[in-house]
Amino acid sequence: MPEGDVVWRTARRLHAALAGREVLASDLRWPSLATADLSGRRVLEVVSAGKHLLTRLSGTDGATGTEGATGVDAGGADAAPLTLHSHLRMEGSWYVERTGSDGRGRRSSAGVRAVLVTGGWTAVGHKLGMLDLVPTAAEGDLVGHLGPDPLGPGWDAAEAQRRLLAAPGRPLGEALLDQRVLAGVGTFYLAEACFLAGLSPWTPVRDLPDPAAFLRLVHRLLHANKDRTGQVTTGDLRRGRQNYAHARSGLPCLRCGTTVRVAMIGPAPRERTAFYCPTCQPGPAPTDDGRAQRPLGAQRRGAARASAARPAHRTRR
Ligand SMILES: [Zn+2]
Repeated sequence: MPEGDVVWRTARRLHAALAGREVLASDLRWPSLATADLSGRRVLEVVSAGKHLLTRLSGTDGATGTEGATGVDAGGADAAPLTLHSHLRMEGSWYVERTGSDGRGRRSSAGVRAVLVTGGWTAVGHKLGMLDLVPTAAEGDLVGHLGPDPLGPGWDAAEAQRRLLAAPGRPLGEALLDQRVLAGVGTFYLAEACFLAGLSPWTPVRDLPDPAAFLRLVHRLLHANKDRTGQVTTGDLRRGRQNYAHARSGLPCLRCGTTVRVAMIGPAPRERTAFYCPTCQPGPAPTDDGRAQRPLGAQRRGAARASAARPAHRTRR
């Protein structure tokens, strides 16, 4: 699943292509938005909020000639500035291509969920996990629950720490995946941050030796990767050596040689994978039955990386 750094990069790419341009045509292939028409609106900006993407569009004043359904039914709200909200979930992506190019037929793909055409560039949302259209003033209904975003302009480390420690007995990994605590962290940064801090993901947050330092580490990891395709936490760009724990179960730890393990973390039914080295990350861990583990997640990670790489390649800007 794309994490905050990938979504941040997607927002930057969309912003560079669309901001300031008028939408000439739109096509939202989403049941609740099938009649929405965004043409005539100007793209004001595209920003990320954790794993969420917000494409903000100007209001209409009638002079633009834009009429008709927008998918927002509140009386008079049609003219208000709107936000197109999307979430990539497991395998979504946005890519940008020159308007007028045939897009190699991609725009007719069954996976396309959104198309925004402007005079220069066309943005295509593929296999999006969520798509909403709301008045910009109501964005909070969709993203107001999110905790501080390490990649956001208003990163508030103190508030992040307060939320992280709010439930003292909660396992660290579970708290990290809770988007109400920190926005943008997924299983990759959970695994890597816990490894680098030498902490088992099942460590109760009250036992964190230095919560502020741990949050600085998470912040640093996300920033270090936001400008590049691929996620590196080892400083080593060679294939198979780019990160310590995530998707490396069954393989020897790059630091100590112990076999990296994986177990589920978090409350059912929303458990997620937590990869860890039992030697480098002492502390509580789920029952280890000693069975050899295959490198679970390696394939999924490869797919996610491929889809993350694709849009950057296609943009050609
Ligand atoms: Zn190790």
